[in-house]
Amino acid sequence: MTIETIDTLVVGAGQAGVAMSEHLSRQGVPHLVLERNRIAEAWRTGRWDSLVANGPAWHDRFPGLEFDLDPDAFAPKDQVAAYFEAYARKIDAPIRTGVEVKRVVRNAGRAGFRVETSEGIIDARHLVVATGPFQRPVIPAIAPEHAGITQIHSADYHNPQQLPEGAVLVVGAGSSGVQIADELQRAGRQVYLSVGAHDRPPRAYRNRDFCWWLGVLGEWDAETVQPGKEHVTIAVSGARGGHTVDFRRLAQQGITLVGLTKGFREGRVTFEANLAENIARGDQNYLALLDAADAYIARNGLDLPEEPEARIMLPDPPCVTQPILELDLDAAGITTIIWATGYSVDYRWLQVDALTETGKPRHQRGVSSEPGVYFVGLPWLSRRGSAFIWGVWHDARHIAEHIAKQRLYYAYRDAAQRQAGAEPRTTPSDSPTASLMGAR
Ligand SMILES: Cc1cc2nc3c(=O)[nH]c(=O)nc-3n(C[C@H](O)[C@H](O)[C@H](O)COP(=O)(O)OP(=O)(O)OC[C@H]3O[C@@H](n4cnc5c(N)ncnc54)[C@H](O)[C@@H]3O)c2cc1C
Repeated sequence: MTIETIDTLVVGAGQAGVAMSEHLSRQGVPHLVLERNRIAEAWRTGRWDSLVANGPAWHDRFPGLEFDLDPDAFAPKDQVAAYFEAYARKIDAPIRTGVEVKRVVRNAGRAGFRVETSEGIIDARHLVVATGPFQRPVIPAIAPEHAGITQIHSADYHNPQQLPEGAVLVVGAGSSGVQIADELQRAGRQVYLSVGAHDRPPRAYRNRDFCWWLGVLGEWDAETVQPGKEHVTIAVSGARGGHTVDFRRLAQQGITLVGLTKGFREGRVTFEANLAENIARGDQNYLALLDAADAYIARNGLDLPEEPEARIMLPDPPCVTQPILELDLDAAGITTIIWATGYSVDYRWLQVDALTETGKPRHQRGVSSEPGVYFVGLPWLSRRGSAFIWGVWHDARHIAEHIAKQRLYYAYRDAAQRQAGAEPRTTPSDSPTASLMGAR
């Protein structure tokens, strides 16, 4: 059997894999990117039809290419996918699509890894795992076994027409949950939205998008999650030109808000009595950003128009003041539950010493505990922005530099070796048969 060799193998050609390829090329590292589907597949088929980017086009992009779009607009998901495809073409990324990595093990007695793929075996000196932060949809164990109720994860939601007639319970009020609930309500559905702990930054304040504010205030670069915020989701939306997520407005519009979903029993669902508290905490987060923005403007003497109306809150709707704590699913006409409850990772194929006992990557800024194995694209890999489009590009640069440095160490020869005229040790990919740059 022929074994292909390469210095660096990148698994996954989403935005993280494309960014990796750009930086590896800049460092002169021979590499290959394997993608089991198509470039940026998650943006094509793993998101609902009407999704647009959460950040404006001037922000949610790589430095090397602008969107063909008004910079303040929010790119539709298909345009995001097309953007990464165009980017890969622009940098001539050596991406092979339709090839799945099935298993990776360390080579015995020598450096590098044996990578078993759907199209053969590859010997790689370095491996970059760019398989995404959102691989396996998570549905909590409380999900009911209630005949007659359709249950899907937000990853499988595409549009209102796919759901059976009837009311919908959306569990989870992060960016996915609120946008899906809003879309369903606008399509004429009765919607219950279960709201847990969340942050909800203003879409824009004083003529600047929140992405701008998080940037100038240094919040995208925060290196660790604030204590107590580990399980706090962020509710933002670029839909319909972009707007602040305001739960009171969603209620005014006709969505029934409920607290965190507690459990299901005998056709009934129960909710925590924490809705008002969750909304108040979301308000605190919103107002804190306005305060920080005002202080920044004053300190730097910026000429940005005041916006006192941003601090005016709508009155609490009845579903907040008299919260529903229990609901009979049939009586409420609920025929669908959408679980907008997040994702987990799946590294069963990665059989190296880079994972914790619970299967989470063990790494520092993406450099794993298994020499030669790297992760990129994960939330908080190095900072808050790490799993977002612009953030992953910077993390990829760090990892490519690390790999380039390791190659230098590897090529080092001591005085005796130099005197004896020993050639630098070749990495597998430096052999003439293994130049895969430009391979498709
Ligand atoms: C609903 C939603 C909206 C989002 N909106 C935004 C936004 O507006 N702005 C923003 O900056 N971020 C956004 N994100 C976050 C993030 O940008 C996306 O999740 C993005 O897709 C992550 O890119 P990635 O390259 O890390 O992973 P992915 O896009 O998931 O790419 C990983 C790739 O690896 C491939 N793969 C996996 N396993 C293997 C294997 N074994 N062999 C070969 N290939 C494999 C997959 O097919 C996939 O194509 C959003 C996330 C979600 C869920």
